Amino acid sequence: MGKIANALFIAFAFFAAALNAQSIVSYQYDGAKLVVKFESAIGESSYNDFIIKATASEPFRRVIDVKATFSNKPFEDKKSSKVAVRIAQFNSGTARIVLSSQISFDITIKTEDKTMTIAIAGKNANIFGDRAPIVVLDAGHGGKDAGAIGIGKKKEKDVALNMTLLTAQALRARGIDVKMTRQTDKFVSLHDRTGMANKLGADIFVSIHANAVASPSKLEGIETYFLSPATNQRAKEVAALENSVVVDTMEKNAKETFLNFLNREMVVRSNKLAIDIQRSLLVSARGVYSKARDGGVREGPFWVLTGAQMPAALVEIGYITHKEESKRLENASYQKAIAEGIANGIENYFLNNWKR
Ligand SMILES: [Zn+2]
Repeated sequence: MGKIANALFIAFAFFAAALNAQSIVSYQYDGAKLVVKFESAIGESSYNDFIIKATASEPFRRVIDVKATFSNKPFEDKKSSKVAVRIAQFNSGTARIVLSSQISFDITIKTEDKTMTIAIAGKNANIFGDRAPIVVLDAGHGGKDAGAIGIGKKKEKDVALNMTLLTAQALRARGIDVKMTRQTDKFVSLHDRTGMANKLGADIFVSIHANAVASPSKLEGIETYFLSPATNQRAKEVAALENSVVVDTMEKNAKETFLNFLNREMVVRSNKLAIDIQRSLLVSARGVYSKARDGGVREGPFWVLTGAQMPAALVEIGYITHKEESKRLENASYQKAIAEGIANGIENYFLNNWKR
């Protein structure tokens, strides 16, 4: 570029920058919509919006970054609604508007002349639209069926129930409708567990268990299973352990028949669900215990999952026969991380697969 052209270019750049100097002049939030007024006209190319998913400690957030300056001190409104609003300068060219809530929600953004209107969708502010997804959570074992027995005679049925209650809480905070096959220490037949999910028309079925090995072992880690007739040796062993609850011959035959006619599409969807749960579960667990072992996503002939007419997965949250892992499973912050992890995984599954 020649000297004159260069000077012209710089002058033009200054001119363009001056033209683009956008700033927020006022804002108003009534709990359902946020109206932001700008100095000059604002269009769709002037902002970028995205979602930050909820974590164990952070709420669900919708972020709108606008090419503008916000000269006031940060504005914050946490009282008008369940959805809190914050507006602040993010960096020199960007003003950031954040809407946050413990429950996922959807928004619509409209720009017209100098005004941006951000409306929180629906009365229930639910990201899933007119109907919340229904999840049936199944606490493994219960009553006369103690499940596996771990170190210090810890019973799998108690660990599973505790984790299921925490997971239900975490899911409800995300606007998901949760039903449980049991909420106390009672025996529920395998048939009634999936039967309940089928009757309710549940979108997914997730069974929560703790793993064990027969002899004292160093085996530890988190595993998520989905139903499939195919197995490897270890999956067969885990399934055999989980299947050891007393089942009458009729039920056993029915389940074996069901396995033979397992629908391919359901297997694929269950596999996706298991992948989402396992991934989120590990991320969350490692936030508390960085060495949490990834036992992977596996398939197996789990009777508790057979008969479910919806995608289904079985989570083994850790080994109660492992000295340290069984101790971690008693730790409140680790338990919370596991529950949040399962909930994040389920939420991700729905975000990726809802109503497509
Ligand atoms: Zn179990």
